[in-house]
Amino acid sequence: MRAMIFEKAGQVLRLAELPSPEAGAGQVLIRVRACAVCRTDLHITDGELNQPKLPLIPGHEIIGVVEEIGKGVNRFKLGDRLGVPWLGWTCGACEFCLSGRENLCNQARFTGYTLDGGYAEYAVADQRFCFAIPDFYSDTDAAPLMCAGLIGYRSLVKAGEGKRLGIYGFGAAAHIVAQVAKYQNREIYAFSRPGDEKAKKFARGLGAVWAGSSSELPPVKLDAAIIFAPLGELVPQALRALNKGGTVVCGGIHMSDIPSFPYSVLWQERSVCSVANLTRRDGEQFLALAPRVPVRTQVVTFPLEEANEALHRLRSGKITGAAVLVTDRSR
Ligand SMILES: [Zn+2]
Ligand SMILES: [Zn+2]
Repeated sequence: MRAMIFEKAGQVLRLAELPSPEAGAGQVLIRVRACAVCRTDLHITDGELNQPKLPLIPGHEIIGVVEEIGKGVNRFKLGDRLGVPWLGWTCGACEFCLSGRENLCNQARFTGYTLDGGYAEYAVADQRFCFAIPDFYSDTDAAPLMCAGLIGYRSLVKAGEGKRLGIYGFGAAAHIVAQVAKYQNREIYAFSRPGDEKAKKFARGLGAVWAGSSSELPPVKLDAAIIFAPLGELVPQALRALNKGGTVVCGGIHMSDIPSFPYSVLWQERSVCSVANLTRRDGEQFLALAPRVPVRTQVVTFPLEEANEALHRLRSGKITGAAVLVTDRSR
């Protein structure tokens, strides 16, 4: 099979011909149709997440079709379409797994990081961590739901019930969260890179009541803010935008250092929290909700071999919505 492989931090991915993987016990072999590109993939290739399997096939937002099933597989059959998210395996026995917090599992394995992922024509996955995909979505439209959607949804839940919601960084996750938030009758205040008029326009098109630069304060105090951009300086900035009792949710897996700030910015029961990974329950809930909203994703597709170009354009803020790799050009 063709695959794009990561070998060393700071290097571009290399197109390789590899033997297709085989489905082990409890696993499905998936013919990959689409795999979305996530900012986390950049953190891996840049070496900011520094414990990848090597060499690695990145990609944790996979949509594909079951081509082979391993021993004991009972949730899917040949030909079924499914999605594979970031959480690829958990131990089921640690204190986190046993208390409904498998996202924090001590031994968790992650698709496209500690397990091979979907920047390839085939991938294997543990059937227990795969999701059925609503028919409402095409393969490419569904791919960003697997991480941008799921992690975005978990971040939104963490943000609480407040009506006025700030979103910092208007990329793949934000464009999905904004639609869910609007469906929940919230007001969205969108913050993007200074000078990024395209992002502001995109945010307004998705129903944001206000769109401005991340260095500005919004016209009203916010009940909560979600930060998707990997910039630590946004944490005190977002806290300053909050009303009393408000929450800042950091939705990314990596962020630059958070600068120090006066305690008064946090006082009045404001809080800061992070979101890590996802649980299967998040996935089931979000995938049931998405077609009802309905969440519509905006995608830019690239052939598999152009993964480096997709990553480059994501880094430079040139993707509106989500980048998705497609493996079958006849589609
Ligand atoms: Zn991701
Ligand atoms: Zn565990």
